[in-house]
Amino acid sequence: MRQDLNLFVELCDYLLQEEQKNPVARPVETSELFQKLDLSLNDFGVVDQDLVSNLKSIIKYTPKTASTAFFNQLFGGRVSKATLGDLLAVMLNNSMYTYKVAGPHVGIEKEIINNIIQLSGYPKDSSGTLAAGGSMTNFMALLMARDQKSPEVRAEGLNKTMTLYTSEASHYSISKNAVLSGIGKNNVRLVKTNEKGEMDAAHLEQLVKKDMQAGHTPFFVNATAGTTVLGGFDDITSISKICKTYNLWLHVDGAYCGSVIFSERYKYLVNGLELSDSFSLNAHKMLGTPLGCSIIITKHKAQLHHSFSNEADYLYQTDSDDFNLGKISLQCGRRNDALKLWTLWKSIGKKGLEKIVDHQFELAEYARAYISNHPDYSLYSFDDSISVCFNYRDIPANLLCTALYKEAELMVGFGRFRDTEFVRMVTINTVLKKEDILNFFQTIEAFVSKDLLKSSLPEA
Ligand SMILES: *Cc1c(COP(=O)(O)O)cnc(C)c1O
Repeated sequence: MRQDLNLFVELCDYLLQEEQKNPVARPVETSELFQKLDLSLNDFGVVDQDLVSNLKSIIKYTPKTASTAFFNQLFGGRVSKATLGDLLAVMLNNSMYTYKVAGPHVGIEKEIINNIIQLSGYPKDSSGTLAAGGSMTNFMALLMARDQKSPEVRAEGLNKTMTLYTSEASHYSISKNAVLSGIGKNNVRLVKTNEKGEMDAAHLEQLVKKDMQAGHTPFFVNATAGTTVLGGFDDITSISKICKTYNLWLHVDGAYCGSVIFSERYKYLVNGLELSDSFSLNAHKMLGTPLGCSIIITKHKAQLHHSFSNEADYLYQTDSDDFNLGKISLQCGRRNDALKLWTLWKSIGKKGLEKIVDHQFELAEYARAYISNHPDYSLYSFDDSISVCFNYRDIPANLLCTALYKEAELMVGFGRFRDTEFVRMVTINTVLKKEDILNFFQTIEAFVSKDLLKSSLPEA
């Protein structure tokens, strides 16, 4: 093992150099991938020296999500202490289902959950767990809501039309989870949004009433804290009123921006969070831990257990249910995703996490100011969002983003709201500084003025 740890350090050194030298890896055409790189698996193995050079060429052509040119997704960067924790989790290789196998890591997970419960304003006897990602924690919320409304479904399957509500701007996992849970895609009601992509609560109520009149069973509302494109926040308080009136489970999907709970300045964006029934957030987005680290908490501790417990005497042989986390988990064997967040939190404190979150809003504000002061740009974003959406000189966003990627200049994606397509620059990458934001815009301007855009477009 020691020898491989040395190889590992050598490969990491190489990666860190590449990130500096080539912040955007030159993309390999899919048609050339298997020629350009030796990815073949053969009857006989290779010696370490060949393996290392093989891995180095793979590293070279791997997109660099921790470089200062990565603005493409709702994650990015590398927070060193969190990475340390995750590397340690790989070495320890525990599974989180029982205390017998996970030991102190059960306590680590519980400590994280309890702190998030407190920061969210939930009662002390709330509960929670981690799952493989935000899609999965949203799935858990939906299943708890379904089982609470119709406990017979667990044994008999669905025998009536149950309807759920989420905004047009919400994440696709809500509809996908409706399919997976047997609710059905046609029973997902998309609630209209305002111009910031926030749910229209009056429309929500209309839809719920209509379904009740039709004899359906409304059961679940998903509110979003940080919509995937515009980074908008649904008004939890007004949505909660409707949920209370019609007895609906309210989940807050904070996968993208739920981590504002760590910020004194920005936690107002999730005002009313304590009124919800469940809340999920991805530490691998705003907090910058390695993928994945998705947490869900709920006020309904018994429901979490009812929906996910299982009897398995080959597994649960010691200790109480409270310490055998497999009883409240979607998975059986489960990776230790808690340690990386704990290591980070332990080393920089809640105050340090707050700084990470606040910095992203500051960078976004800086970016919006740049755009507003520059006549060649049009801005589509608003204050207190870390998604900065804009167009430059009427260049179609998809052409600009694709050309920047093909020419290895910048990694940035495009999004759409209603009829407008725009560049969506995300300031979530934890390694970014103001100068990187400035560099981002200057790179685009230089790229366009050199006419590089034209040369990378298909010939007319
Ligand atoms: C990213 C995201 C998800 C999905 O999270 P994964 O960890 O990628 O599965 C869900 N909801 C929102 C609002 C998101 O931004």
